[in-house]
Amino acid sequence: MLGGGLAGRPVGRAAAWQEQPPEAAPGGQPALPQSCALQPYTGCPNNLRVNQPSADGASGCQTCAQSCPADANGQAQMCADVAFFAALDAICACAAANSVVVLVESAYRQAGQQVPGSGFVPAGTSNHHAGHAIDAFVEYADASGQTQVCRTPCLANPPAPVASFNQCLQLIAGLRCCGAVADSTGSPDWPHIDDGLNQGCPTSCPPGFLDRRSAVQQSGPCPAGQVCDLGTGICAPGPAERVCGMTCCPPGQTCEVASGACVPCPTERACGGACCAASEACNRGTGQCEPCPAAQVCGADGCCAEDQTCRSGMCCPPQRVCGARCCLEGESCTTLMGCCPTAQVCEHTCCAPGAQCVFDDRFGWGCRGG
Ligand SMILES: [Zn+2]
Repeated sequence: MLGGGLAGRPVGRAAAWQEQPPEAAPGGQPALPQSCALQPYTGCPNNLRVNQPSADGASGCQTCAQSCPADANGQAQMCADVAFFAALDAICACAAANSVVVLVESAYRQAGQQVPGSGFVPAGTSNHHAGHAIDAFVEYADASGQTQVCRTPCLANPPAPVASFNQCLQLIAGLRCCGAVADSTGSPDWPHIDDGLNQGCPTSCPPGFLDRRSAVQQSGPCPAGQVCDLGTGICAPGPAERVCGMTCCPPGQTCEVASGACVPCPTERACGGACCAASEACNRGTGQCEPCPAAQVCGADGCCAEDQTCRSGMCCPPQRVCGARCCLEGESCTTLMGCCPTAQVCEHTCCAPGAQCVFDDRFGWGCRGG
């Protein structure tokens, strides 16, 4: 009986799954998970960003905005495969360590999209078509502290800060940069950085490249009730906090339990266009929600600020912490009686309303009357 009881449930469950045909889409094809692999990369606002057009139009990204929607402020964004984000984070770390800024001219490009100003249409086997490459200039401060931008041919013979940045890039496993990849004429492509995903192309592209290229080409907005899992780049059921009836609230909104409607995120939980869950805190540096440290998780208040402590499910400022409780506004903490209306505090205790706080030679301070 024991064995049958234990084995029966999982076997029955597995059999039930096998008996069900895959859910069919209206066209009769099995429904495939929706890809959302192509996403704006915003993880390095200080040291890796789109080269925004300058006021005189002389400089600025020419291609990013063509393949990636502008952000809420109308600024061009760079899009890449979420599977390339870790490489971008590593490039970011090198830039920060060398006090340079990576000015991205181009990231993801749709296959067949002409490179502006170059006159040639690249093959579909470039890492740009899988969202695994960027072309970038490097902004640095010269010996007199003036901001300069190192483009080609500067990148071929870079000044010290850029050379040091390049050395850092060359230590990142698998990363190709600094002229290691040739352009269509066979010359070193100095601004180009990729992770070598397409090695073997064009004669025999590896499955990893073909998979990611398909993933980014088929990337789109997630259906209602789903959000993009940025780890996998596949749409997944939304976080519980954003599930609202049959839909999932869009980023930046949350479900109001009383009305069952999506409402704008409360200011304290808004984070880079998203709305953090109760168990998350906003990393203001990256603009991303992150799980809050266990010590700061606090009931309905969510994630306490660093200078607050969780007491009875409330985030409590330090001056109001009182043992396991958090005193209210207008209360003070007493050793013997806990939180006490400030007017009734009597040394270590709390007098009843109307009582006097008096000093006795024998007993010290104490309450009388009331
Ligand atoms: Zn390139």
